[in-house]
Amino acid sequence: MPSRLRVGIVGGGLSGLAVAYYLTRENSADGLGLDITLLEKSPRLGGVIRSRRVGDFLLEDGPEAFVSYKPAASRLVEELGLGADLLGSRDDRRKVYVLDHDGLNPLPKGMVFLAPVRRRAFWSTASLSLAGKIRALLEPWVPPTRKDASVQEFFQRRLGREFTRRVAEPLVSAIYGGNIRHLSVASALPLLYRMEQSQGSLRKGFLRRPLESSSQPLSLFLTLRKGMEQLVDALRKHVDGVTIRTGVSGLRLTPSSGGSYLLKGKGFEGVQDMVILSTPAPAASRLLAGLVSEEDSPLSRVPYTTTRIIYLAYRRSEFSHPLNGFGFVAAEGADTVLDACTWVSSKFDERCPPDSVLLRCAVHDGRRRREPMSEDESVTRVHRELRRILGISCTPTLHHVWDHGPAMPQPVVGHSARIESSRAGLRRFPGIYLTGAFIGGVGIPDCIETGRRVAEEVADDARNRNRG
Ligand SMILES: Cc1cc2nc3c(=O)[nH]c(=O)nc-3n(C[C@H](O)[C@H](O)[C@H](O)COP(=O)(O)OP(=O)(O)OC[C@H]3O[C@@H](n4cnc5c(N)ncnc54)[C@H](O)[C@@H]3O)c2cc1C
Repeated sequence: MPSRLRVGIVGGGLSGLAVAYYLTRENSADGLGLDITLLEKSPRLGGVIRSRRVGDFLLEDGPEAFVSYKPAASRLVEELGLGADLLGSRDDRRKVYVLDHDGLNPLPKGMVFLAPVRRRAFWSTASLSLAGKIRALLEPWVPPTRKDASVQEFFQRRLGREFTRRVAEPLVSAIYGGNIRHLSVASALPLLYRMEQSQGSLRKGFLRRPLESSSQPLSLFLTLRKGMEQLVDALRKHVDGVTIRTGVSGLRLTPSSGGSYLLKGKGFEGVQDMVILSTPAPAASRLLAGLVSEEDSPLSRVPYTTTRIIYLAYRRSEFSHPLNGFGFVAAEGADTVLDACTWVSSKFDERCPPDSVLLRCAVHDGRRRREPMSEDESVTRVHRELRRILGISCTPTLHHVWDHGPAMPQPVVGHSARIESSRAGLRRFPGIYLTGAFIGGVGIPDCIETGRRVAEEVADDARNRNRG
């Protein structure tokens, strides 16, 4: 055994950088003697996170913000010295609409996350029928079931079909870029699943553990002044002891002598004592093909969906819609190609010049095949639809399109069993770890928290190895 332990991290998105950061901290605090190498396939770090300035506009190709009620991300931002650059959403304008065949309807009032909690406020909503509201308010009396189910089954059982179609489906589909008929409630919405199991009802759960309270000091959504990529840049600076190699392709992982592993590809070859895979699941499955057959690997069966992001800006003076909210999500039956549209210039300050409004639209292939459209065609189509939906007649002053290939993991029913069986298959190979958005949730705080936990496991492993 060499005197220093070699740790290879494969994948330099947020998950890989987070694990590198927390492991570096453990390494220096505890003198673990780790030599950490991070290997990334593409020429840049950050994975799906990419921010760009176009004149005075700040555009995000990937995530635009993170929720504040999961503290992992804001804590990390503070630790990295970026606290002063945190930018909160304009919660005084907080209102989200659902686009349906009858136009834009505000989300019902009195909701916490996806559950009607304040009954009187919920009752006042005009976007659900009387029967739909009564059915949703019966939620506390619906008995829990003990098995994982699809998000659709879960909401239909607890809150009824109308609430599911007009409220839950559009929101969850937009978050996951996915289809609620397939998504697992236990894996995609673990908080709601646990509430049902432990409290018997979502309403009771939220009343005992409010997601948000009036004393909460932070806005609901947070982002960074210079864009989400600031987080990537700051993480990179804070892992200066880590050897970072970008542009490393075709990596393969095979057993080497003394329980170590050989990582070999174009641009890198090295033996590692421990390896952390932080790539998307299919890539992890291919990397592991030298240990576990790719066909047998449950990781190869984690589905991913694709998303196209389309930004459009307009002159404020010509824009007749008040944009009084954070934007809209589209119901499944709505006559539109759009799945969601964020009214960026209302949700956040400092994202565009004051004389402009900025809209960010998303089209994913999670619930229907994405129509093959060139970038120019999708700009034209989305603009035409926005004219109809928002009743505007002006023309865009800026557009930008970014295509994500299969980037959004879909934790479908059976996901946790699939991950557990992958882990079980890897127990024969001590020192191999998995992290990433498909492990502990797709949100920015989830990826950071999963990375922190894996770093702790690796540090414990290193302590044991150093002792033994
Ligand atoms: C369009 C979009 C919008 C989103 N919006 C939000 C949002 O607003 N808020 C929020 O909280 N979350 C959002 N998310 C989710 C969140 O951004 C992601 O879940 C998170 O950034 C994923 O990070 P990751 O490191 O796990 O994966 P990735 O970012 O996919 O990084 C994986 C890395 O592994 C590399 N890699 C792959 N194969 C190999 C290989 N063989 N060898 C070496 N490297 C390899 C890739 O090049 C990549 O850099 C969004 C996601 C998308 C796609």
